[in-house]
Amino acid sequence: KVRVRFAPSPTGPLHIGGVRTALYNYLFAKKHKGDFILRIEDTDQSRYVAEAEDYIVESLNWCRIPFDEGPGKEGKFGPYRQSERKDLYQKHAQTLIESGHAYYAFDTTEELDQLRSQYETKGEKFSYGPLTRNELNNSLHLSQDEIEKRLAKGENYVIRFKTPVNRFLNMHDEIRGYIEVETDNLDDKILFKSDGMPTYHLANIVDDHHMLISHVIRGEEWLPSMPLHVLLYEAFGWEAPKFAHLPLILKPSGKGKLSKRDGDKEGFPVFPLNWKDPKTGEVSMGYREEKYLPETVINMLAFLGWNPGTDQELFTLNELVEAFNLNQVNKAGAKFDIQKTHWFQQQYMHKAPIDYLIQEFVPILREKGIEKSNAYIEEVIETVKERAVFVSDFWELSKFYFEAPKEFDKKASKKAWKEDTALLMQELKDLLEKQDDFSEEQLKATIKPWIEAKGVGFGKVMQPLRLALVGEMRGPDVFHIAGSIGKLECLKRLDFAIE
Ligand code: GLU
Repeated sequence: KVRVRFAPSPTGPLHIGGVRTALYNYLFAKKHKGDFILRIEDTDQSRYVAEAEDYIVESLNWCRIPFDEGPGKEGKFGPYRQSERKDLYQKHAQTLIESGHAYYAFDTTEELDQLRSQYETKGEKFSYGPLTRNELNNSLHLSQDEIEKRLAKGENYVIRFKTPVNRFLNMHDEIRGYIEVETDNLDDKILFKSDGMPTYHLANIVDDHHMLISHVIRGEEWLPSMPLHVLLYEAFGWEAPKFAHLPLILKPSGKGKLSKRDGDKEGFPVFPLNWKDPKTGEVSMGYREEKYLPETVINMLAFLGWNPGTDQELFTLNELVEAFNLNQVNKAGAKFDIQKTHWFQQQYMHKAPIDYLIQEFVPILREKGIEKSNAYIEEVIETVKERAVFVSDFWELSKFYFEAPKEFDKKASKKAWKEDTALLMQELKDLLEKQDDFSEEQLKATIKPWIEAKGVGFGKVMQPLRLALVGEMRGPDVFHIAGSIGKLECLKRLDFAIE
């Protein structure tokens, strides 16, 4: 059975790359009628942030990527927080020591630092591994007695993996194909520390095995860990899951990885939620606060590294499940594209239920002291939403439906307002004053023949009228605006313009 996991470390807000990893895991699981698991990898206490777990769960909820098992949703394979599984890792570290696949290393930080600088002066890089470990301070050349004595004394140690010597490792990645590594180029990674905590590598493998994970789908930054992971499965005598490493998400320029800082620099919030860093108190804005729709985020993320091989671009989550395929995930980094993201957002804005749009626009109006009926707001939204990307664009596109222009665009005035315009507008005002039915249709039926009868060009009247009502030369149909704001407001704005 397909079982996949998203295994974030709760160290801070979820980067957009993390959300994509979660999404691809979810799509793959659902495509194969499998399970999607959330596992919190919280063994690195120095980087642990308590709020981050809730934040991760909330992010997934907002994106509507539900997990089948995880913290708060216990399945058969819990607990789903690594900090609650410590005994398991300890036991397995011991197993590896006993089988000769791991050893105790007693080197102090100072000793290792010294070695590193010695190598550096030779222009080389120190690596604790198959080629160096025999001369170092570890249990490989100590008697059992000596080892026990040192441990009993409480000497600080780490448990390191004993990388096999001189082997060619042939591994397979679902996206990248075959990858070959020489084990002599690897180092003996730390698996366990004397504080009783495992490192990422040990905990990750032990959990993937015990949680019956069938496919490990994760970011490319974990590709260098794959040889160690494959060797660990071998050392335990376990069957390894299949691996798939997702391409990097690159900056819009294509130069380098999209990161939190650069995300801000590009004027773009990388985080999907409003989150306050407990250490710095800094608030990072996110997709949710920027009023992106979850549908947008899902759709654009799906396309960052994958494409369906057809022309279709708009996909619901269920359609993505149908279409998704690991074989169609690219190896090459995926460039983040803000224009495309806006395009997706615009598409989903147009599809969004009107009630949702009203509910999001009302607070913006209220902040400006504007109270209008929902019916009125709905009509305005329907008129301008074609041109909006975000709900926050509604105001700029439609403010003249709610308040009179305070000034007139200079260029437009020069063009539309001639010497005889004031007189013309005064006459138009007199005409409108007599008008009882102020519906858009009636206005059209009244004003058009009037212009024709006067024998002036249509633009000569309509342009200054637009200027008077809107303040500049833009916006929807003038008759619609006039009809919506009503007679009183129309006459007031004409007066103001004529002055
Ligand atoms: N805890 C790792 C992370 O933060 C998980 C990597 C993996 O999926 O193996 O990304």
